[in-house]
Amino acid sequence: RSYSTPNNTYIDVSKLTVQKTTHPKPKTPHQKLVFGKEFTDHMLTVDWSVENGWEAPKITPYGNLSISPASCSLHYAIQLFEGMKAYKDKEGRVRLFRPDKNFERMNNSARRLALPTLNPEGVTECIKALLRVDQDWIPSEKGYSLYLRPTLIGNQESLGVSPPNAAKMFVICSPVGPYYPDGFKPVKLLADHINVRAWPGGTGSYKLGANYAGGILPQQNAMKRGYSQILWLFSDQHYLTEVGTMNLFLFWKNEEGKLELVTPPLDGSILPGVTRDSILTIVKEWNEFQVTERPVKMAEVIKAIEEKRLMEIFGAGTAAIVSPVKQIHFNDKDYDIPINVEDPSATIGPLARRVVDRIMAIQYGEVDHPWSVII
Ligand code: PMP
Repeated sequence: RSYSTPNNTYIDVSKLTVQKTTHPKPKTPHQKLVFGKEFTDHMLTVDWSVENGWEAPKITPYGNLSISPASCSLHYAIQLFEGMKAYKDKEGRVRLFRPDKNFERMNNSARRLALPTLNPEGVTECIKALLRVDQDWIPSEKGYSLYLRPTLIGNQESLGVSPPNAAKMFVICSPVGPYYPDGFKPVKLLADHINVRAWPGGTGSYKLGANYAGGILPQQNAMKRGYSQILWLFSDQHYLTEVGTMNLFLFWKNEEGKLELVTPPLDGSILPGVTRDSILTIVKEWNEFQVTERPVKMAEVIKAIEEKRLMEIFGAGTAAIVSPVKQIHFNDKDYDIPINVEDPSATIGPLARRVVDRIMAIQYGEVDHPWSVII
């Protein structure tokens, strides 16, 4: 199924204008950063309309947007976003991690909402300019980074439900610390078979704000019950899909007794995570065990636990890279998940550890790798 692109004009970085703030904000000490609460001094905005295509991109002081109360984004959730990070390496150079993957996904989301697509090179160049203006905001300690939030909204002033004739793209930046500042903290999951995150024919494989709204209440209820994330299940077969806002990996000895890393397939209801793709690529390169994208049912996980074949379960996403799982609550029962079969006191399994080390080495430019793009 394909969705047509409303307009094929492109963002032209040569038209970029930069207006710098006259009131730089004080910066919170890095150790006190809370995810997504603090924003840098500047932002990028680019407007689009059917008549003019993408207009000149603008870097301006960070501040409120002015949009009509009839903007379709506020009524019909015509909104999509990306999440990516900029890292400072030891030499002080700023690096992006696989930005091409984020803009590919952003364009897929845009097509799905009948919004205009963006030329990835144009946006990347504008973001590079934004990062140069705000570079003092990028923490340089390892584990710290600048979280970037590219966002695209429909901005037609009309209550008619229709493809928007206007849109706005913006990028805001937030300095962030390590997800686990004091070492990994394995999480307890509530396997939810009542609420459904995504379904065949739905929009789960696109990064739309609308996919997240319905998850807030189940997440809040899970937390009240002492679980930190939801394990989203699907169908009466109880297929495992995603963990909170992360993709899901299982490492086990499969029923044939072979070591296997498994993750649910991109069947339309799974978000194609950049971290997910990176882990699959890295682990396949090691060529040490089977790596499989296939559906997994709760019954298979429980059987593996009972037969002591399960070795690790972890979530994977930009925020934490990996998030080890220590327990799953399913059908009134708590199932303990091994973190590290060799070392019961460990807070992360050997496979997850290896994957994190490799990804961070690439992100912080400790090894040369085409995934790390110097700005
Ligand atoms: N699944 C969902 C639902 C997410 O929101 C995210 C975070 N973007 C992910 C998976 C992980 O994606 P990524 O590795 O690109 O951050």
